[in-house]
Amino acid sequence: MSDTTWQPGNPIVTGADYVASLRGRGLEVWLMGERVEEPADHPIIRPSIDAMAATYDLAVADPELATTVSPYTGERINRFLHVTESAADVVAQNRMQRRLGQLTGTCFQRCVGMDAINSIFSLAWDMDEELGTGYHPRFVAWLTGMHRSGLVIGGAMTDVKGDRSKSPSQQSDPDVYVHIVERRDDGIVLRGAKAHQTGAVNSHWLLVMPTLRLDPTDGDYAVMAAVEVDAPGLRYVYGRQSCDSRSMQGSIDVGNAGFAGQEALVVLDDVFVPWEHVFMDGETAYTGELVERFTAYHRRSYVCKSGVGDVLIGAASLVADYNGVPSASHIRDKIAEMVHMNETIYATGIGASHEAHQTAAGNWEPDVMLANVCKQNVTRLPYEIGRLAQDIAGGAVVTLPSEQDFAHPDIGPVLEKYFAGRDGVVTEDRVRVLRLIENMTMGRNAVGYLTESLHGAGSPQAQRIVISRRADLDEKRDMARRLAGIDG
Ligand code: SF4
Ligand code: FE
Repeated sequence: MSDTTWQPGNPIVTGADYVASLRGRGLEVWLMGERVEEPADHPIIRPSIDAMAATYDLAVADPELATTVSPYTGERINRFLHVTESAADVVAQNRMQRRLGQLTGTCFQRCVGMDAINSIFSLAWDMDEELGTGYHPRFVAWLTGMHRSGLVIGGAMTDVKGDRSKSPSQQSDPDVYVHIVERRDDGIVLRGAKAHQTGAVNSHWLLVMPTLRLDPTDGDYAVMAAVEVDAPGLRYVYGRQSCDSRSMQGSIDVGNAGFAGQEALVVLDDVFVPWEHVFMDGETAYTGELVERFTAYHRRSYVCKSGVGDVLIGAASLVADYNGVPSASHIRDKIAEMVHMNETIYATGIGASHEAHQTAAGNWEPDVMLANVCKQNVTRLPYEIGRLAQDIAGGAVVTLPSEQDFAHPDIGPVLEKYFAGRDGVVTEDRVRVLRLIENMTMGRNAVGYLTESLHGAGSPQAQRIVISRRADLDEKRDMARRLAGIDG
């Protein structure tokens, strides 16, 4: 990851280019009460950067899977920057996401921006058609710049929300939802904060979007804009993840915490945005549609977790083998159950993508119902897959001594003897796979595999609302009446 000749202004192609592009930006990042001098060198932050870098390295290794041609520049671009031009493009996003889940075993963070550009693309078009605004060409001009440079776009949607029973303008503190505090000749000024923002510190630009359907009285909160991450007034407070200090330790006890997700609080302290980067300014009537379109993309993006699940199933299978029981019927049954649940996640997500429809703007959007069903599955099934992985792994997943104990000349050989598995298995390999299961089900990457699965792209109830609204029970009742011979 160290070989790069990348210079500012060059397009970013490789993971090493990407890491180089993050250096020296002077972002105001806080972690554990301290300003972080250089995030790329911080042992807790670096694993999240390396997970994002995998999105570049995959594009180099497998261009068919992870790149396509930009309609604006005619050059090959990373698929994460592409506006879908067919249902096949929507499907290809899911395939790429599963692969990246397999390669990193965690959240690689780049999907939020991909899903945001696709939803803003069509929404800006609709606003222009119906209101005569000029957002769509403005957005495409900005996006073309992203295609030229190969940058990471992050999405900034979830507001901190204050009193959840009140609308933005009813809050005693107006800043708990991001809003426009000033409109100037040359642009707008934004204030507020966005919570748990995936990959924010690892991005180059953030797309600010409203988090909920707004009433006309909340006009100052209806704003979409692109903001450079180092714009004056932006501050980042890094979210701690369980066991993140393991990333600072030796190579065995970290499991796969050499990769990690990233969530941060993003504070917008009077951030100026020039008009050319503003894509919504007060159009409250379109905010509900923006949320629905964004979540249609993002809720089926959670097929990423099926890639992570592949790793965990592999780990469970390995540890059963190391323990000498790969053929035990209950182990085989549990592995089959894990695979079934994992493929259920993938099936509903990629089904949503296959059922994509073309928008008026010309890009392709996943099926809303199936996308929400995918995400609802993701709020539950990884927990069950994780439980079965721990079941198969046994108690050692929480009782293993440290790497230092295994390496110690006195006690190490004792541990070597008593933590051995079946004949022919290297004890260290058994320890490594147990640490992997530990990390993915209760350590740093359980954040990405479990809790992010629960709350990311909206908590479970958000999907149930959409599923209920779209279920068309009247039509289903008619079907039942007809077959039951009930009149009317
Ligand atoms: Fe992408 Fe999954 Fe991370 Fe969301 S949780 S950014 S869909 S990898
Ligand atoms: Fe997410």
